[in-house]
Amino acid sequence: MSVRRRDVLAAAALAAGGRSRAQPTTFEAGELRAAQQLADAALRDTHAARLLTELCTQIGARPAGSAADAQAAAWAQAAMRDLGLARVRAEPLVLRVWQRGTASARVLPPEMLPLTMAALGNSVATPAEGITAEVAWYDSLAELQADTREPGRSRANGRIVFINQKTDRTRDGRGYGAAVPARAFGPVEAARRGALALGIRSIGTDRERIAHTGALRYEIGVPRIPAFAVSVPDADAMAAWQAQGRPLQLELKLDAKSDVEATTHNVIGEVPGTDLAHETVLISAHLDSWDLGQGAVDDGAGVAIVTAAAACIARLAPRPRRTVRVVLFGNEENGFDGARAYGDRYGQDPHQWVGESDFGAGRIWRLRSRVRPEALPLVRQMAQVLAPMGVAWTDDADANQGSPGPDTGVLMRRHQWPAVELSQDGTAYFDVHHTVHDTLDRVDLATLPQNVACWAVTAWLAAQAPVGFGAVGR
Ligand SMILES: [Zn+2]
Repeated sequence: MSVRRRDVLAAAALAAGGRSRAQPTTFEAGELRAAQQLADAALRDTHAARLLTELCTQIGARPAGSAADAQAAAWAQAAMRDLGLARVRAEPLVLRVWQRGTASARVLPPEMLPLTMAALGNSVATPAEGITAEVAWYDSLAELQADTREPGRSRANGRIVFINQKTDRTRDGRGYGAAVPARAFGPVEAARRGALALGIRSIGTDRERIAHTGALRYEIGVPRIPAFAVSVPDADAMAAWQAQGRPLQLELKLDAKSDVEATTHNVIGEVPGTDLAHETVLISAHLDSWDLGQGAVDDGAGVAIVTAAAACIARLAPRPRRTVRVVLFGNEENGFDGARAYGDRYGQDPHQWVGESDFGAGRIWRLRSRVRPEALPLVRQMAQVLAPMGVAWTDDADANQGSPGPDTGVLMRRHQWPAVELSQDGTAYFDVHHTVHDTLDRVDLATLPQNVACWAVTAWLAAQAPVGFGAVGR
């Protein structure tokens, strides 16, 4: 059946007021065969490994607004054009960025330990002479939150708060999700109780002397205090002294700049659609990274995977009905400026669904969606194509509770766009996340083609689907 004929039948069925016999909610056999062929070809992909290697070795760390970030935007556009994507562009946006300076911290005698540490993103500086104070110890953010906020009454008052929140190793990242509020909200909770500064145990699952950075969030009306993370072994050493009842004194010196005006970019490339070209299937990653490593797992891998997936569609699949658009967002790590700018610009355009690869380079083990119930049979059929690649689909309510990555999560919530989640195995991800160890040598390049194949297949099928995935169907 021709596309046009099918549309006419679907429109007639809608006009007749029925959930139509004529409006198919399954893919045609030929489409599923084409998707299978696309998967087979994408499993032989070598572009993702090449792209990731180039990004890490030619550019490396690329905090939003930096010179390296601009180089990465130029590199990404060249890579997209080279791979045959259309309408390649970098959309600039002006933002205010935070810039790391030098930082050090140590436990003062009698214990004496120079700490392996890193400032948290957005941290204000200490005075030049630093801050020296006794430590107020909390085993978790919840314990700090349970402490009184009455002025002058908290243990935190006049001290450096330390939160020893541990991060559990999990495949799906829920251990990180449970621990990360200590980093994001710890500084505000400590400052509300009169603290001078905040230290945290790194939000990470490794046991090496490396510190994990990441963004904190200040609140208007609450004093901004300097904040830093120490390595897990250093936190354990402090915990041992703490357990022995020995009072700990810390000295912290931290330099940083806030609110520096800069420019970053969303880099976009497309595989143009045909009869439904005005509708977009968005697959994405973020181009920026923290400054400590090379941004290999976060999120160079995602950049390589979705770019290579779109290239596979352009090269190997029948031209899609809807437009497949790759977006490499700017400044995911410290503010979601790229996601918000994308929403400002394209928020009125119909999006079939949105998804993001931002959980390292591990294999995809699960497909989940957020689509209207009528579209679920199509997701089920996608899952059948992915199943031989080791991807599970649960066929229960949970299957439609997917959460896309951070940027597309912002867009999903803001615009009520349907979404897809291709869950990667994140068991080892938080060993290196936001650290000096986020480097190319930590990536198993052999896991990339399975990711490319899953993204290519789901994006192409979403572009072919006989119905819209959103709340308002066609
Ligand atoms: Zn990321």
